[in-house]
Order: sequence, then C-alpha cells, then structure tokens
Amino acid sequence: MHSELTFSVGVDVDSLWHYYRIHGLDESQASDHAWSHGVPRFVELFNALEIPATFYCVAEDIERSTHCLKQLQALSQQGFEIGNHSWKHPYALTQLDLAQASLEITEGKKRLEAASQSIVSGFRAPGYHTHAQFREPLLQSGHLYESSAFPCAPYYVAKAMVMGGMRLFGRKSQSILGSPKLLSAPSQPYVASEFSPYRASPVELANPLMHYPVSVWCGLPLIGTLFALLGPQLSTRLGQVVAWRLRSGIQKANQKPKHLTIEFHAADLLSLFEDQLDSQLKVQPDLKRGLTHKRQAFEGFLQALKQVATPVRLDQHPLTLKYSVNSQV
Ligand SMILES: [Zn+2]
Repeated sequence: MHSELTFSVGVDVDSLWHYYRIHGLDESQASDHAWSHGVPRFVELFNALEIPATFYCVAEDIERSTHCLKQLQALSQQGFEIGNHSWKHPYALTQLDLAQASLEITEGKKRLEAASQSIVSGFRAPGYHTHAQFREPLLQSGHLYESSAFPCAPYYVAKAMVMGGMRLFGRKSQSILGSPKLLSAPSQPYVASEFSPYRASPVELANPLMHYPVSVWCGLPLIGTLFALLGPQLSTRLGQVVAWRLRSGIQKANQKPKHLTIEFHAADLLSLFEDQLDSQLKVQPDLKRGLTHKRQAFEGFLQALKQVATPVRLDQHPLTLKYSVNSQV
C-alpha cells in the first residue's frame, strides 16, 4: 500500500424521479427505491470492503419522507460523509439565475446539515455541470471542496447523441449537455481557478476551493455504469490494470501523489426485474443488469484498487485539509 495513492468513492443518491426527468418520462410512477434499496446495498458493500464513502444527497428528497431522513442520519452515524448534491437537483443549475443557483447550493448544505446533524463540506453539481460563479456561494456557505467535473469525451458524445435522439422523437430531457470546456478539466485534483471551475488556478488564491474531478482512465469513466456494463471479470481486470499502472507510476522518481475519484449512483444497485421497478425505466440500460452481477463488478474493481491505494473521504483528504487551513488564515 502506498500512502501517496488515495482514492475516494462517492454515491450520488438521486431518487428515481430524477431518472424519469432525464428521460422525459411520467414521474408520477416513481418509487423511492434508490433510498430504500440502493443506499442500504451500497452501505453493505462499503462496510464489507471497509471503505469510508461519501453519499451526495439531494435535500428535497430527504424532506419528502421520514424514511429517507432516518437513513440519512444512520449514514452519518456509521461514519459515512454526507455531501451536498443540491437542494432540488435542477439539471440546468448553470442556466438558473445566480440568486436561484446560489440558493440551490446554500439551502442544500444547510438542510442536509440540519437533517444529518453532520458537517457537509463537499458539493457535487447535478449532471456534472458547474460554473465559476458558484465559487462564491460555495465558499461563503463553508464548502471545502467540489467534485463536479467529469472530463470524459466518450460520455459527452454519447449524451449528445441520446439527447439528439430524444429530440427527434419529440421527448424532452431536463438534462443539459453543457459546455465542451468541461472536457479540458485536469484529471488530478486541483485548486480551481477563479474564472473556470474546469481549470487549475495558475496563482495562489487567498480563498482556494479544491476540485476533485470524477476519474477517467484512458477514456474510460471510473463510474458504476461502466462497471455494471463490463461485469465482474472485466471490472476486476480493469481495477488490476489501473492499480498496477498507479503503483508503477508512483515508483518513478518525482511522481506526485495520485488520487482517483470513483463515482456511483444509488440506482446502480437496483435491478429493473429483481426490484420490480416500473418498466418505463428500461431506457436506463444498466438497470437491466442483475444485482449479483453488478455487486460483484463493483466489489472486484474496488477490491483491486484497495490493494495499492488508501480509501479516504474527500472531506478528510490531505489536500482538502491543506487548503481549508490556508483559507482560514
Ligand atoms: Zn444527480
């Protein structure tokens, strides 16, 4: 194990009605399986692997049911980090006026802190789209880091094609494509520039905000959807190759510490058939995979990575701590 190598695991807890909104479906059929089934399955997986993960939650989802509230509190009591995934999860957060977007950020944090009785330090924007103007509300409300950038060209192209296809068939997604500038974000954690959240600041900042981009390795997004589609054997092999490359890289002289940010969604551990979900959701291909297949795939990848790298919550990552101390001086 190399202490210079770290990885973090985050789960975006998007309730199923958000998937209906992406795909332009009737959300009145949505159940709360993401919270009632997806979250407990991830807790079981992380406990088995001894990984201290972060759950990025939507404040509005918590306020819709006491059952979600109880689960949120249990997560924080079990040592998981609670992150801010906004107040109401608007996919077009970057297209709202600044006052509204700021409310999404600050109310999300405030409400999640009150509900979970824990400090919320991290923000992940809905749909991976963020903006330089969010820096102020993020810092002023006490966030220590953001983890929204996802510089993955194949994902960007696939999303453009899906959205274009939906438009052809007259269906309207609430998701947005976003600026291609997001593709140029650094692959390793960085202090974000004041002028772009997708660029590292070339100068020291009085108020730094760390940014942890979701990891992409050789064009492959290190996210639950990929592992679910690859299956147990290929995901394990991918984990072994990534681990081997990380370890051999760090052994070279003058190599800087390396970090990987792995992302899941609570719905990644749901199954259309086993959980008897609404058949409209078949448009989401990974929901059609079996639960055992997906759990083994996630476990295989994470287990391989854990052989060489230390899992760490992002609010406790050395870079978060370093720059939060600086900002208080
Ligand atoms: Zn989300």
